[in-house]
Amino acid sequence: MENNRKTALITGAGRGIGRAIAIAFCKKGYNVVIGYAGNDEAANETKRLCEEAVKLCACHEKEKVDDVQGEQHIALVKGDVSLGETAEKLTECALSFNGRIDVLVNNAGITRDTLLARMSEEDFDNVINTNLRGAFLLSKSVTKPMMKQRFGRIINISSVVGVHGNAGQVNYSASKAGLIGMTKSIAKELASRNITANAIAPGMIATDMTEAMTDKAKEAINASIPAKRMGTPEDVANAVLFLADENSGYITGQVLGIDGGMGM
Ligand code: NAP
Repeated sequence: MENNRKTALITGAGRGIGRAIAIAFCKKGYNVVIGYAGNDEAANETKRLCEEAVKLCACHEKEKVDDVQGEQHIALVKGDVSLGETAEKLTECALSFNGRIDVLVNNAGITRDTLLARMSEEDFDNVINTNLRGAFLLSKSVTKPMMKQRFGRIINISSVVGVHGNAGQVNYSASKAGLIGMTKSIAKELASRNITANAIAPGMIATDMTEAMTDKAKEAINASIPAKRMGTPEDVANAVLFLADENSGYITGQVLGIDGGMGM
């Protein structure tokens, strides 16, 4: 049976927000490519959770799954997104299912926090290369197939600090602000081809990235968030699904805050 499913490529999907996004697309009946850097155990767990979610959908939520045919593909691709060869590998894998790439989610990201006076050039470059250069390479790589199929959704996971800045995150906030500028430029270039590009700016989301904070720091941050809690990876995944939807085609070049009101 021909595979007529849509395909979503998600970077940094081995853990955290990316994992929740991968599971959400699997539930929607997409073929999914799970990109990750090196944590094989976490990535395999994401794949297992995706497969489990698909099975549960088939049993209990059939009406929620798109009317699609063909075997659903869920693939893992390991590699550093700051390298051109990884963008090629990820794109090739996505195209191998049925020649389409409908959605790219540039989610892979790292932090190397410290004050400006102490920040090494290496920490600046590593963060820019992963968070910004990686998104550039992937976006460039999927553009041709998306233009050919006259449909595409590029969703870049930025951050509230890309809009507002944050002490101790000169490198990270620069990368996330750069991502917003890049998103708007891509949106302008590709809008006439039915390809949208949007950024999501999460606030504090409970993942490994925020786990390193002390309980006291978490409490202080929660108190400052209007919603009085950290967000979940699923909060972000829901927004990604919304922007990826065919019916969201008139939304482009936007920055959607998923932050419990933090960015107001
Ligand atoms: P996370 O739990 O630390 O997971 C990061 C993911 O990115 C992992 O799958 C990791 O792969 C992958 N990755 C890291 N460097 C990579 C590289 N060079 N090449 C390929 N993959 C790489 O992070 P998260 O909290 O889910 O964050 C996901 C995104 O949301 C990031 O862009 C982050 O900046 C953004 N964000 C997060 C928050 C938050 O509060 N958590 C807030 C705003 C924005 P491995 O598993 O193999 O290491």
